[in-house]
Amino acid sequence: MAEIIDGKEVSQHIRKEVAEGVGALKRESGIIPGLAAVLVGNNPASEIYVRNKRKACEQVGIYSEEYKLPEETSESELLLLINKLNNDKNIHGILVQLPLPTQINSERILRLVFPSKDIDGFHPENVGLLLEGNPRFVSCTPNGIIKLLDFYRIEILGKEAVVVGRSNIVGKPTAILLLHRHATVTICHSRTKPLGDVTRRADILVAAIGRERLITQDMVKEGAVVIDVGINRNSEGKLVGDVDFEGVKEKASYITPVPGGVGPMTIAMLLWNTLESAKYSL
Ligand code: NAD
Repeated sequence: MAEIIDGKEVSQHIRKEVAEGVGALKRESGIIPGLAAVLVGNNPASEIYVRNKRKACEQVGIYSEEYKLPEETSESELLLLINKLNNDKNIHGILVQLPLPTQINSERILRLVFPSKDIDGFHPENVGLLLEGNPRFVSCTPNGIIKLLDFYRIEILGKEAVVVGRSNIVGKPTAILLLHRHATVTICHSRTKPLGDVTRRADILVAAIGRERLITQDMVKEGAVVIDVGINRNSEGKLVGDVDFEGVKEKASYITPVPGGVGPMTIAMLLWNTLESAKYSL
């Protein structure tokens, strides 16, 4: 029976560390880290996410601003706002909530955020630095996954790691981080066949797919560490992951629940990156 990895607990430790760091920075240099969240349109999930971020900032002493723009906002209007925030000394992190409405080219917008304020780690310069092994900001979810493994003293070096999902936001950066920590890494995706043949090799299995309970007990090696990134709503409206938690926990050595696993780490790492950005600005 697997030990449950408690993301809420680990994220509290990180938040405490961030709060201490924010206090020290303020005392030593008078700088208060500032985060601006930009939300375009009325996506309810994004609104909840941004609200949670604001509360989290308040708790650790990070100054936060929220920009809610209407659904019909044009790309040039959004550009003006990004430019203003890029040049605002009180803002150290700019977060553009995805997805953006279709009239806006998300790639172009994300490239305009100054890399030094790109606390999500999405700018090509930050992606390049990560690939190089010299990261400035690591995307929050992948960074949170590594923090969870470290907190539970789960060895990564020399282990066989399999990441299911190849998105720029989760799958790819998670694979790169595991590689930097000397795991042997395989990335799977929707065309990997048969998926179970690859996932069964994993000592560390990361599921970042967005498909309810796709990873079942028979696809997991005995004693594997299973990290479930997925957030899906099932037919009863409940949040569930990409992993069949009940079945897989019988076989795994460690497992993250959904909710309460990777999710709380994402926000904690965002606060962490905002503090780091404020320190770099010195
Ligand atoms: P995405 O849709 O961009 O990528 C999904 C990936 O899964 C793709 O690379 C695709 O090839 C792969 N995939 C799809 N079907 C597959 C299949 N049948 N077999 C194997 N691979 C398959 O999604 P994303 O942004 O990477 O997010 C993945 C999941 O993680 C989503 O549920 C999302 O909500 C969740 N998420 C959670 C957090 C968090 O904080 N916990 C953060 C970001 C994303």
